[in-house]
Amino acid sequence: MAEFQLNTAHLYADLMNTYGDYGNLVALRYYAKQMGVAFQTTTVSIGDQFDADAYDFVLFGGGQDYEEQVVAADLPTKATAIKQYIEADGPFLGVCGGFQLLGEYFLLADGTRVEGISAMHHYTLNQPHSRFTGNVQIKNEETGQIYNGFENHQGRTFIADDERPLGTIIQGNGNNGEDGGEGLIYKNVFGTYFHGPVLTRNGNLALRILQIALERKYPAVDWASQITKIEPESF
Ligand code: GLN
Repeated sequence: MAEFQLNTAHLYADLMNTYGDYGNLVALRYYAKQMGVAFQTTTVSIGDQFDADAYDFVLFGGGQDYEEQVVAADLPTKATAIKQYIEADGPFLGVCGGFQLLGEYFLLADGTRVEGISAMHHYTLNQPHSRFTGNVQIKNEETGQIYNGFENHQGRTFIADDERPLGTIIQGNGNNGEDGGEGLIYKNVFGTYFHGPVLTRNGNLALRILQIALERKYPAVDWASQITKIEPESF
């Protein structure tokens, strides 16, 4: 058994994996390995329990409107535990449909309202005859880091007062095409419309999330100085 190990959950891996969002876990494992940290992943899907204390990182990928409805019907069984995990500063990456479902509600392209779990208070409106697609570039205001990704969504998300955008748009549409924001940060939850997947294209963000997860689990270790020695890659 390795001295350090991150236990991760992939929520609805079999339904929510648009453009290989699973690659986000591959990217984290790649960097964890360079630090001698073992990396274990469990799929948590329809009918499974989500244990709020079992994980050090959670990925919830994107899905199209149909899959999102299937998942929305199962999510209430996990909602309390997911909220507990988030409120306990659990690191979480929600991509596209995955972060839409953490919010209050979203509207399908035809306007049908689907309830989220209200773990956070953003909400998502629709675009009846249009989608936001293409390359996006943003600047994260806290770090000055630049993140690149590819968006493909009809939903237009509006973030709440206690959430801040993952970045300010340099190129592309982002959350809603109106307010200049892309994605969101709430506690240690990162939400984004970026496929690509986001952490393989943005090693700087992968390392930032890995550091958060390691510092939360092993606070006595100086992870920052180890992580600054690793070269972030863009695959
Ligand atoms: N169904 C959502 C939308 O189109 C999410 C799409 C996605 O996850 N790529 O807005």
